[in-house]
Amino acid sequence: MTDLQNFIDGRLQPAASGEWIDNIEPATGKPYSRIPRSGAADVEQAVESAKRAYPGWAAMPIEERSACLMRLSQAVEAHADQWAAAEARDNGKPVGLAKEVDMKRSASNLAFFATAIQHFSSEAHIPSGPVHINYTHRKPIGVVGCISPWNLPLYLFTWKVAPALAAGNCVVAKPSEVTPMTAYLLSTCIEAAGFPPGVFNVVHGLGPETGEAIVTHPDIKALSFTGGTATGAHIQRATAGTFKKLSLELGGKNAAIVFSDSDLEDALRTTVRSSFANQGQICLCSSRILIERSVYAEFRDRLVEKAQNMTPGDPLEAGTKMGAVVSEAHRDKILAAIARAETDGGTVLVGGAAAEAPNARCAEGYFVQPTVIEGVPSSCDLNQQEVFGPVISLMPFDTEEEALALANSTDYGLSATVWTQDLKRAHRVAAHLETGIVWVNCWLVRDLRTPFGGVKSSGVGREGGFEALRFFTEPQNVCIQL
Ligand code: NAD
Repeated sequence: MTDLQNFIDGRLQPAASGEWIDNIEPATGKPYSRIPRSGAADVEQAVESAKRAYPGWAAMPIEERSACLMRLSQAVEAHADQWAAAEARDNGKPVGLAKEVDMKRSASNLAFFATAIQHFSSEAHIPSGPVHINYTHRKPIGVVGCISPWNLPLYLFTWKVAPALAAGNCVVAKPSEVTPMTAYLLSTCIEAAGFPPGVFNVVHGLGPETGEAIVTHPDIKALSFTGGTATGAHIQRATAGTFKKLSLELGGKNAAIVFSDSDLEDALRTTVRSSFANQGQICLCSSRILIERSVYAEFRDRLVEKAQNMTPGDPLEAGTKMGAVVSEAHRDKILAAIARAETDGGTVLVGGAAAEAPNARCAEGYFVQPTVIEGVPSSCDLNQQEVFGPVISLMPFDTEEEALALANSTDYGLSATVWTQDLKRAHRVAAHLETGIVWVNCWLVRDLRTPFGGVKSSGVGREGGFEALRFFTEPQNVCIQL
């Protein structure tokens, strides 16, 4: 069994407690490595080291900071096959997906912010009369915390640390204890990439212990968090009155709205992907499929047929399209949500249960059938609470107004997908959707320059492009009398 290590002050090391936490492989249900059970002492060591490193890192020429990030991006590319296999083993996702999506995106996150910082300028405000000039200097904040979830482990970890480091901050980062492996592998390359000791610290452990110590540390001035809405709310409460900057990317209950004039084949193909990719464990996955009544039966039947043909496989096999869900507890939560939907009047059209293990190796793994349910009222849990698994709810609508009312009828507001050939309608519907992100006739198309994030209970703040660099900097305005 491999023992993972923290990376603090430029050194790999175990937790001060000397305690370990088992890391379980979702496809087999068996522990295969251990992570350090870090606590306040480890976070304190990381923060002290980050504080020592900060003046040098913040003053380093941008080109040199950028080069460190670029070398780390190249390390991800160089290890892509090996780390994709590690991600698949750690998370349960198909290895092909881990290679195509997670590793590529992790490398581009680092490369993107390595270059974005070179184009990120302070602003000047020059009046027409020669009286005074203002310039707004965007300075790094100091020591910042980055906390990421398990569903896209290295992808979301790098999405946070890259802009934080590029902007000149020193980082104390914590990956999810459920999927710690690739953040650990990345940490073994930090020194060789040229980051001075203390600039980029990776601390492993449980949310309420390690995470809480990061969140409440008085010298961590900004926190970028992605995870569940309940955890986000807890972090807001835990930091109330401290004036820390918070970026919270939280849960979703995303609608896909299919109008009858859409290219149904395209809508169908993409909706299958947006519903079941990564076993439905992407915050942007569609979980409520709203279908115009005139095409409801046809769309439903074809969707059910496609879902019937999807069988979870061993994540480590190259041809696997659907893998294991991330943990036993998460599998049980998904199955409980399905049972509740049936109690609430839903009909399970396909799936609805744990899936058979694909092979003997995976006999004790956590697999769930792709599940399509209809007939659950919009007000019920299936349409209100995030399931975060391969489970979707179908609902018919008659008018654009009804579609919008249904789409907006949850506390969440992360993303929505609109399917129509009428771009005037697409624009109108998008304007009324209470979400931070809208895709029209596509899904999960990402341009890293665009603002990313949700409204309502899906979060506060935006990531992506200059939005992230603005979050990780403090603007100081200087006004000079001429
Ligand atoms: P989670 O909230 O349980 O954990 C996320 C991270 O927070 C983990 O690293 C965890 O250890 C840490 N954490 C837990 N308790 C903490 C505490 N008290 N203080 C500090 N840190 C703590 O979420 P999860 O189950 O890992 O991830 C799934 C959730 O993430 C889903 O709700 C999903 O929608 C959401 N998510 C959102 C986005 C987005 O961009 N909006 C992206 C991916 C996932």
